[in-house]
Amino acid sequence: MADTLEIDVDTLSPDTLNQRFEGSGTRAMLQALLTENADKRIAVISSFGANSVVLLHLVAGIDPSLPVLFVDTGKLFAETIRYRDEIAERLGLIDVRVIGPEPSALAARDPAGALWISDTQACCAVRKVKPFALALEDFDIWISGRKRYQGGRRAELPLFEAEDIGKAPRLKVNPLAHWTKGDIDIYRTAFSLPQHTLVAKGYASIGCQPCTSPVAEDEDERAGRWRGSDKTECGIHVADDMGGLP
Ligand code: SF4
Repeated sequence: MADTLEIDVDTLSPDTLNQRFEGSGTRAMLQALLTENADKRIAVISSFGANSVVLLHLVAGIDPSLPVLFVDTGKLFAETIRYRDEIAERLGLIDVRVIGPEPSALAARDPAGALWISDTQACCAVRKVKPFALALEDFDIWISGRKRYQGGRRAELPLFEAEDIGKAPRLKVNPLAHWTKGDIDIYRTAFSLPQHTLVAKGYASIGCQPCTSPVAEDEDERAGRWRGSDKTECGIHVADDMGGLP
């Protein structure tokens, strides 16, 4: 494994990058990022959920061999797995990496597969956050599809940020931070990109089957995630949220 990236140098400081790319087109920014950092280890994270196809299409148009990290918690909808395979083939993504919880960790923490009922934080930690943090150790820069319009902790998203998940700081890139829901829909329509089949059934944001429900038209996009609880994020975007795991 190569040494981890020092992100506090001039060229890769989040502040410098935010200033440089403010107002830039998303594709141009991604093109520059991937081209100028070809010596770095870069990955994109995708849930292959309701809006994932836009970022994946942008990335595939520049480098379809970029690693795409997909966390299979073991609790996903079958429709998501089918959509992942459909999108990967359609976009020519050749390095989709399926990450999942260690069997030994599941045996110790969630042997009955019902931890989500009693403790969603611990369930997300063992099924998603920990496996993702381990996978991320192989990368210096990661790209996420979060958007400000999704609200909550995401409302103030910068394009570039330094983030500590696992053992080392990394550069995290949010190329769609400023995109609106309308922008997403226009892009998907313009390129005739297939939609996750559950969207037509009212699912506006799609995670694990037990913790995801459809939303009403007047609800926020993520209102169906962990409905009825205060939880709004699985934890992979929250640096200090390892659910008590080391
Ligand atoms: S979203 Fe629900 S089922 Fe999925 S890992 Fe988190 S608590 Fe468990």
